[in-house]
Amino acid sequence: MTTCYIGIGSNLGDRRSHIERAIEALRNTPGVIVTRLSSIYETEPVSNTPQGKFLNGVIEIKTSLRPKTLLSKLNAIEDNLGRKRDGINMPRTIDLDILYYGNERIEEEGLIVPHPRIREREFVLKGLRELAPSLIR
Ligand code: ADP
Ligand code: MG
Repeated sequence: MTTCYIGIGSNLGDRRSHIERAIEALRNTPGVIVTRLSSIYETEPVSNTPQGKFLNGVIEIKTSLRPKTLLSKLNAIEDNLGRKRDGINMPRTIDLDILYYGNERIEEEGLIVPHPRIREREFVLKGLRELAPSLIR
């Protein structure tokens, strides 16, 4: 099992409910054990498109899934919660990103880990500081 950190965010519709349903879906995913949750933070969107504030947090999981498989499960959860894919930094019902996958470095088509924008996103840093401070020194 590999310990991973997943960034979660929502800024469309019932944000709290989307986050709860996504966590529930993760708990029901074979090969994934949800171990800890950070606090949920309200954050300003990083976008040129006007949109509402986010609720964001970080989830710690242990998983037997390989990174690409995990990403496809996350994308399926996003799809089930009505996520539309119409450009970067657009409002979204739910966003699930792989922040860290153990200590692996991955640079593949469609998957970069650690997530390249961790340090630009204060809520990610806050959530990680709660769960795994050694990762962000
Ligand atoms: P972002 O989360 O950066 O705002 P999206 O959620 O729209 O953007 O994701 C766009 C693409 O980013 C996804 O289709 C996915 O293939 C790719 N991607 C690359 N690295 C990662 C990662 N570590 N976690 C999640 N998605 C990633
Ligand atoms: Mg994403």
